[in-house]
Amino acid sequence: MVAVSIRQLDKRFGDTTVLQDVNLHIDDGAFAVLVGPSGCGKSTLLRLIAGLDKPSAGRIVFGERDVTSAPPRERDVAMVFQSYALYPHLSVHDNLAFGLRLRKIPKKEIAARIAEVSDMLGLAPLLERMPRALSGGQRQRVAMGRAIARRPALFLFDEPLSNLDAALRAQVRVDIRKLHQRFGTTSIYVTHDQVEAMTLADQMFILNGGRIQQSGPPLTLYDQPNSRFVAGFLGSPATNFLRGTLRRHGDHWTVTLGDNSVGNDHGDDDTATATPLLVGGPDDDSRLAAHDGQAVVVGIRPHHLTLKADGPIALTLDLVEELGGETYAYGTLHHQPVVARLKRRLAHDGDHPILHLDAQPQHIKLFHTDTGIRL
Ligand code: ADP
Ligand code: MG
Repeated sequence: MVAVSIRQLDKRFGDTTVLQDVNLHIDDGAFAVLVGPSGCGKSTLLRLIAGLDKPSAGRIVFGERDVTSAPPRERDVAMVFQSYALYPHLSVHDNLAFGLRLRKIPKKEIAARIAEVSDMLGLAPLLERMPRALSGGQRQRVAMGRAIARRPALFLFDEPLSNLDAALRAQVRVDIRKLHQRFGTTSIYVTHDQVEAMTLADQMFILNGGRIQQSGPPLTLYDQPNSRFVAGFLGSPATNFLRGTLRRHGDHWTVTLGDNSVGNDHGDDDTATATPLLVGGPDDDSRLAAHDGQAVVVGIRPHHLTLKADGPIALTLDLVEELGGETYAYGTLHHQPVVARLKRRLAHDGDHPILHLDAQPQHIKLFHTDTGIRL
């Protein structure tokens, strides 16, 4: 096992910068997840950690050892890819044994390790089969078994569940977490799927446009996003974002919702009369004073919206989905889409297309209109 530190890492392909000033530290034995939208540089970063490619600048350190220029075989990492990359002409048993034989591990030890991973991953009945006679899920298990049997200091996973159907994904996700509990090997797992990231990670790193946006424990990032990007990326349905104007009202801070951009041609005429949304108290002065009177973006998660007569958020309803235990109300407010996840059923008769909602100030996040940084 090993801790991983990445310092001021850049990666360019020709004129294109794919990773920029990436700094991260993964604790020894942690399960770290790098998550971000497709194309943000996740696979590139993982390949640099594996030694399959060289950084343009910066350092990669395993424990005390600088491995920036070390070839892959000197890094003691095992990688599991989205494509299983099994040897098609070798049986499952020989696929598992291949890397171990190459490393001149004694036969008895190889047999013991194969028995162990087969048992753990349910591969015992499949050992004599060829890869083409396996389902996608079985192939992915063999690929994982092969990595585990190596007993590396570091596991790297690149979207290993993407080719599996939803039910299998959930199952293999649990298997991966159990494996980590059993061996405690430092693991770096890459995914674009925020649910995988939230459920697997001890340490989560959110990547966008080749930069780390925020890192920390998953629930900390969910509760305290530092930017509009992170607030919108984590959680489903996604956080609602509404434009408005921040103002001090006595001891309190409010936002008058509405599109206050110059040249607003939506014909909104109700912004002046709308009830302001309470977003903060005297404790927030130091944070908000510099933005008094300015346009801001308000972020509210769908489950933090609650029904309230004359509530400040007057949603024009488009669609109501009743799921039995909860209700999703979709609509617009000043032409911006909003979804509310309500615990109550709605008596939606079509005669009351306006739904009045409220949210508690502690659940409301404010973001800078241009930079998206949290105020
Ligand atoms: P992700 O895994 O997050 O989807 P990648 O790391 O695969 O993203 O790619 C990040 C960006 O780098 C993409 O825009 C991709 O086109 C570009 N890229 C990746 N590899 C190369 C390469 N060898 N040459 C040029 N561009 C590349
Ligand atoms: Mg990728």
